[in-house]
Amino acid sequence: MNTNTIRRRSTVFGILTAAALILTGCVTFPAPDAPPPTATAITPMPAGVQTNVPLEPPPNAESCNATESLRPPARMPAPGRMPPRSSMGEIVAHGRLIVGLDIGSNLFSFRDPMSGDIKGFDVDLAREITRAIFNDPGRVEFRVLSSAERIEALKTGAVDVVVKTMSITCERLREVSFSSPYYVASQRILALKESGITGPEKLAGKRVCSARGATSIGRIQSIQPRAHLISTTTWADCLVLLQQGQVDAVTTDDAILAGLAAQDPWVQVVGPSLGEEYYGVGIPHGKDDLVRFVNGVLERIRADGTWWRMYNQWLTVLGDSGGYGPPLVTYRD
Ligand code: GLU
Repeated sequence: MNTNTIRRRSTVFGILTAAALILTGCVTFPAPDAPPPTATAITPMPAGVQTNVPLEPPPNAESCNATESLRPPARMPAPGRMPPRSSMGEIVAHGRLIVGLDIGSNLFSFRDPMSGDIKGFDVDLAREITRAIFNDPGRVEFRVLSSAERIEALKTGAVDVVVKTMSITCERLREVSFSSPYYVASQRILALKESGITGPEKLAGKRVCSARGATSIGRIQSIQPRAHLISTTTWADCLVLLQQGQVDAVTTDDAILAGLAAQDPWVQVVGPSLGEEYYGVGIPHGKDDLVRFVNGVLERIRADGTWWRMYNQWLTVLGDSGGYGPPLVTYRD
């Protein structure tokens, strides 16, 4: 056989082999825009990761006056002296304020690895509400909730209040009540420093992580429909996926992303604000007296400098983007 025949035969063999592999499905070509593989065989993902995230509407797709809340009472009851026939009186009767929060949202509520204590801006706020009811900030019990569990925990009465970076939205107001806003965050993007991801336009065809139950999912889906969403139970899980190369970016409130970035020098918060998020204390429907009371506590912490003390302790890493100060509030009677 001369070399030309050998070359011709090996070419024909190559073509036949490739055709056979394609026909048997051993080789597949990604559809244009298909997401890169979501995991390597060797690196396990955190439990509860979902790769087929359903489409959600952006927050406040319905319009309402979401951040307007009930006016505080003209005279707040003195700490430790709650009227017995009130929602606060019921809380006193069960001995402690049960607060739903997270332990994986660094800066807002997280477990300090050294002391084992739960700390952060939301934790301090929960203790201020507790102090106002019991005259003792220690009469609080924390129940750990994921983002997706917040509304159900309020509706079933598993918690008295939720203080967990929870945005006030028109959709949520149909199911629960909210205090006046106590913090304004902005949704942004977290990516590896060398990734070239600089804004939502760079997320087309990329894997983007958010926690299930967060407003962040619907908003990014509406801004960048070609992003491939991956959802987790906690924000810390999104950071793990980013570190393991299993997602390309994380998106949620800058306040939470800054807490993730503080744990990893290789990641950064990028891009413009994708939308504002007004955090409120979540309260079950039907407890208007508790909404008014919490709004009175918020009035007090804004007026006496406690808000800024909490901000300076936890949130100065946000720099300019966190520099709005306490949000302006509007009330209805
Ligand atoms: N603020 C957003 C929300 O309430 C994201 C924060 C979170 O899920 O903890 O959905």
